Amino acid sequence: MKYISTRGNAPVLSFEDAMLTGLARDGGLYVPETIPKLSHSGIAAMAGLPYEEVAFRVIQPFVGNSFSDTELMEAITTAYAGFGHVARAPLVQLGPNHHLLELFHGPTLAFKDFAMQLIGQLFQISLGRRGEQVTIVGATSGDTGAAAIEAFRGLAAANIFILFPNGRVSEVQRRQMTTPTESNVHAIAMDGTFDTCQGMLKDMFNDFKFRDGVKLAGVNSINWARVLTQVVYYFSSATALGAPHRKVSFTVPTGNFGDIFAGYIAKRMGLPIDRLVIATNRNDILHRAIRTGRYDMDTVFPTITPSMDIQVSSNFERALFDAYDRDGSVIAQLMGEMKQGGFGISQGALEVLRNHFDSGSSVEGETSATIKAIFETTGEVLCPHSAVGVKVGHNNLGSSPMITLATAHPAKFPDAVEAATGLLPVLPRWLADLFDRPERLTEMPNNLQKMKSLICERIAP
Ligand SMILES: *Cc1c(COP(=O)(O)O)cnc(C)c1O
Repeated sequence: MKYISTRGNAPVLSFEDAMLTGLARDGGLYVPETIPKLSHSGIAAMAGLPYEEVAFRVIQPFVGNSFSDTELMEAITTAYAGFGHVARAPLVQLGPNHHLLELFHGPTLAFKDFAMQLIGQLFQISLGRRGEQVTIVGATSGDTGAAAIEAFRGLAAANIFILFPNGRVSEVQRRQMTTPTESNVHAIAMDGTFDTCQGMLKDMFNDFKFRDGVKLAGVNSINWARVLTQVVYYFSSATALGAPHRKVSFTVPTGNFGDIFAGYIAKRMGLPIDRLVIATNRNDILHRAIRTGRYDMDTVFPTITPSMDIQVSSNFERALFDAYDRDGSVIAQLMGEMKQGGFGISQGALEVLRNHFDSGSSVEGETSATIKAIFETTGEVLCPHSAVGVKVGHNNLGSSPMITLATAHPAKFPDAVEAATGLLPVLPRWLADLFDRPERLTEMPNNLQKMKSLICERIAP
């Protein structure tokens, strides 16, 4: 299996190299050259299997020769062993035709654990085998950073730097990043928004001298391996509700377009998905793009759903690449126009996108009202991100069962949940003393040179 860049101008890589690299050298994102198809009977056979077994069947065709079957199965087994629920991604019912896929039973209580825990295992195998040392740098709106630090803390072969927007993440998210005591963990509080952090990350990757000098590796949702691990729960949940014998729909709270893009990959692999609904908060660039055909940046408004406070949605580039018939030069040109603020999507490409994706958005009042209503009618306590999904999912109910992805545990966002329900959600046992642990972080201005110096200093032997 080979991986190519969405901008058509970077080396073709194996799964392992694409995973270790993250962002392609032409600024694009790696995608598989072809999407493997699973047969109807192969998908039917997944119903009722343990999550790990479904994961192996979905992921293996994309891995090629990078990892042996034994290595992959062991990595998957170790990755999910620490989850707080034996089903890993359990389904609960919210209404007659509406189901919630709980993706928050991992160690840091957000769906990002599904990807990070497995990537941590795969990095460890690769780096050990190569005898290499890498510098992982990630940008986060909160949950990616916590999940990445949890997966890489204490790993001898990697230093990990996580850039988060100072004051714009929840206290639980911040403490998950600043309380690990391992010396390879570096939590960086940046002046600015998530887009500032992500921009800084891209600038570091585009500085090849720096990139090669510190052996930069990326674990943001632009990393193909992350998207791939998220394809699994589309299969496990859909087959639990009768796929492939009947179609199901999904609604996905979206920021960087990674989680919903995984659903699109599941569909391309042969999972009969009826509709894939993009759910955004007030920062609704994706909803506007699908509705109007203009992909235009706006300012980022802080909301009670900080993990979705994003205007530049990186993984959307992968969807555009397919919508423009995989023409890398067109994508490179559009992303150039993005630097000036936005671009119009061609009629043909827009039709392809609308064929695959519906969209909707939920503003603050609606999100809070949804948390309250779902609590009162079902007893289920939603985090605000999941509530954005449930609100939009509810508006898009049809004949197929709707599965809305619950992306984080309510206790990660206690203020918003308490305001809506009057109930303070409690952290699980293993995080009970989080507020007593000492914090360690470095504050940084939005200055590329200073950031690079800091990284060089910290990784010096
Ligand atoms: C990251 C995150 C999202 C957005 O996911 P994308 O893959 O970036 O679209 C939504 N909700 C929560 C809780 C998250 O942590």
